[in-house]
Amino acid sequence: MNLAVTRALLNGQAVGLRSEDGLIAELGPSVEPSAGDEVIDAEGLLLSPPMVNGHTHAAMTLFRGFGDEMPLMEWLRTKIWLAEAKLHPDDVYWGTRLACLEMIRSGTSRFFDMYWHGGEAARAVIDSGLRAAISTVMIDQLDPARGESMREGVLESLDRIADAGPRVAPSLGPHAIYTVSSESLAWLAEVAAEREISLQIHLSETEEEVRDCIEAHGKRPAAYLDELGFLGPRTVLAHGVWLDEGELELIAAREATVVARPAANMKLAVGGVLPYPAAARAGVRLGLGTDGVSSNSNLDSFEEVKLFALSQKHASRDSSTLPADEALAIARGLRSPALGGTLLQVGEAADFLLLRASDPELSAGDLDADLVYAAAGSVVDTTVVAGRVLMRDRVAPGADELVAEVRARAARLTA
Ligand SMILES: [Zn+2]
Repeated sequence: MNLAVTRALLNGQAVGLRSEDGLIAELGPSVEPSAGDEVIDAEGLLLSPPMVNGHTHAAMTLFRGFGDEMPLMEWLRTKIWLAEAKLHPDDVYWGTRLACLEMIRSGTSRFFDMYWHGGEAARAVIDSGLRAAISTVMIDQLDPARGESMREGVLESLDRIADAGPRVAPSLGPHAIYTVSSESLAWLAEVAAEREISLQIHLSETEEEVRDCIEAHGKRPAAYLDELGFLGPRTVLAHGVWLDEGELELIAAREATVVARPAANMKLAVGGVLPYPAAARAGVRLGLGTDGVSSNSNLDSFEEVKLFALSQKHASRDSSTLPADEALAIARGLRSPALGGTLLQVGEAADFLLLRASDPELSAGDLDADLVYAAAGSVVDTTVVAGRVLMRDRVAPGADELVAEVRARAARLTA
């Protein structure tokens, strides 16, 4: 069915929007519904582009609050990796469904995911109505022989993700340079190039990772990845906290994307944030992500964009660093073609939000600044993806059942 939105506010003007076959067909002050359209009367609501979550581990809703306040490596080794050993594929389906619900409720239309059982995550994305790049994870614990024995399984998983449906893009997600061998990283880069799909990896999260890389390979992490053929326009690098200027220039030259995730950096106390001023000077393509909820602990991109802007101002001791409109453009995935952000324009995907203009947080002041500094995801009234209404009047169908399902599974996994 086609969708018509009437009386929505855009740049201070009441407009109508019609979508046909998942694309914006008409947008403007004189647009009216056509016969047979599903109609949303948006009086008092602001039309807004959606958020793009550039890095997460969606199914980790199963591990929310599990092992909080621990050092990163101890947390992974003594909590997360042990609990993950008990994961069933259907746990990933339900955990991802809950994550999708959370993202729908906080205005995200698309996300980049790295987690086990990608086929199940892809099925959850299709059933939720969102869009996602779902990666097949690889961790060979720096053992090339083990990596080689995993290759067939990686390709099978990739095919399953690719077959999931139209809103899911297959992707490859080696965990990090300290958990995946050079041989496997180079192989994954080849597969991604052959299939023209994205590569996702954690990079330069801690100073220890940088020190170890220099010790093992004689170069810094970005240069190491580049040598393996890993950096290109479809590469999405999460973290980037300790990238130096030379690495930023290299990443910019390769047109790779760096995704900041400030909440998780601060919660895990890594001691820094993405060097945004230097990255912007170098022309690096940027995005914003929440990371998984066990290191955030939510998937609210409105909260994340506030932390992004504030942490950058704080770190640079300059309140003019990363102004609200730029922070918002990054959070909407508009500062990297790889992230697939959408604008409100005819011919673009019918992915958009209706925000509650009457909420106290949006009652006065510049809209972009309010969205970054004042709002949370709770200002989102309606979320539409591919012309389909996923939440209306803050009601997303099936929410209670999803919470109950994940609560029961989380209890089993973390027992
Ligand atoms: Zn992550």
